[in-house]
Amino acid sequence: MMRRDSLYINGEWVEANGDGVIEVVNPATEETIGSVPVGSQSDVDAAITAARDAFPAWSSSSIEERMEVLNKLSAAIKESTEELAQTITAEVGTPIGYSRMAMVGTPRVVARSYAKMLESFEWEEEVRNSLIIKEPIGVCAFITPWNFPLHQIVGKVAPALAAGCTMILKPSKEAPLNAFMLADLLDEIGLPSGVFNLVSGHGSEVGEYMSSHPDVDMVSFTGSTGAGVRVSQAAAPTVKRVTLELGGKSANVALDDADPQLVGKMAIGACYQNSGQTCSALTRLIIPKSMNDEVCEVIASRIARYTAGDPLDDSTRCGPMVSERQQTSVTEYIQSGIDEGAKLVVGGIGMPDGLETGFFVKPTVFAEVTPDMTIWQEEIFGPVLVIATYESEEEALALANDSIYGLSGGVWSADEERAMAFARGMRTGQVSINGGPFNISAPFGGYKMSGNGRELGLHGLEEFLEIKSIQRPVE
Ligand code: NAD
Repeated sequence: MMRRDSLYINGEWVEANGDGVIEVVNPATEETIGSVPVGSQSDVDAAITAARDAFPAWSSSSIEERMEVLNKLSAAIKESTEELAQTITAEVGTPIGYSRMAMVGTPRVVARSYAKMLESFEWEEEVRNSLIIKEPIGVCAFITPWNFPLHQIVGKVAPALAAGCTMILKPSKEAPLNAFMLADLLDEIGLPSGVFNLVSGHGSEVGEYMSSHPDVDMVSFTGSTGAGVRVSQAAAPTVKRVTLELGGKSANVALDDADPQLVGKMAIGACYQNSGQTCSALTRLIIPKSMNDEVCEVIASRIARYTAGDPLDDSTRCGPMVSERQQTSVTEYIQSGIDEGAKLVVGGIGMPDGLETGFFVKPTVFAEVTPDMTIWQEEIFGPVLVIATYESEEEALALANDSIYGLSGGVWSADEERAMAFARGMRTGQVSINGGPFNISAPFGGYKMSGNGRELGLHGLEEFLEIKSIQRPVE
């Protein structure tokens, strides 16, 4: 049982002023595994004051000092890999191997990548009679979700530290324990007091208050589009910078020269990573009509390998949904697919065979899905793949772009140049060609209602910088 009873403000663990606690439930066992305090507006005020007071010193710290902090953070995450992975698996239900590799391994590498970036980052440039200077934006508020909890936090904390910003974090209610462990690590490595502050609590209270606060210069939010809109509204009167990483409904397109066996095989993993609870999951598979039967057969025959079960068992590929609410929501989407006339290829309503406890759903695939169906349009955030077919490449592109979202995408073709040309036409922030892997140094973020701004890589660092032009007299 991991009961955390205080908040991390100004380099100390202090009592929270809100009412009650947030219970953390293991979605595989349905047991309570810990709790965190409910922060209040006065806790947010204290954290923002600490961050504001720490800003002058941290924003003028040397590049070497920031690099040392980031390298120490990366090393500390590495040292705690097993503990962090076990905690995230207990909070989120992620299969343990994936927790070690993606949930903990990625933030470890991201922290190090920003230390490396600082070695050569250009803070100043001359443009005619101007000196152009990049400066840290100030105090940042971070609001994060549960699905890749540590990665989403470190994807903000690391570039903010590199930029010279100070910060306050509100983690998700479902998976907050890893954020408390991160605060322990930042404390242990000797990050100066007030640079990083942690206030857990309810989004509608703590999150909105942070977003509206006049002493916060920037809000970086990751979560649902609905909450992102509310954050933007709360932030608007103070004209602070707002970056949003929101939902997705990404297309995975097979061109007519792609290998149907490979497309079917790879489409499952691209949709089901982290049990489908991935914003950039490729959840809409778009294939030539002539390929439909073969791709559906491949998927149906391989889905059994996508074993659902205990996330601590190394053979498990699909964990539970994070919460009962999420299980209900995904189940309702599966029902809507059936009701609206999509063809159920595998899966359906109910728990996977042999499971009675935990917030599981059956890995599900629908074919003959049309753009008027709810399962085509809305983000399901579970292991549900929908397949539509096309007759011409023009139609394929129209289907791919037929979404309010634009976060990620995939293209398959025997001809890489052809896939590249198709990728250029997709209105989305990321595209993988023929299974090209995720790159932590490439900007990540959305077009359309998938968000504003970019995380990771150089572009992710620049989000935390203001730009000043100083003009010299011209002779
Ligand atoms: P959520 O929007 O419910 O919660 C995200 C965070 O926002 C939580 O910390 C929550 O407490 C807070 N919050 C909720 N209401 C708020 C409000 N009114 N004001 C301020 N803060 C508020 O999302 P979730 O269920 O935790 O996460 C799933 C969603 O996140 C999915 O839609 C997914 O696509 C999206 N997501 C996007 C990315 C990305 O990078 N684009 C990454 C992961 C998840």
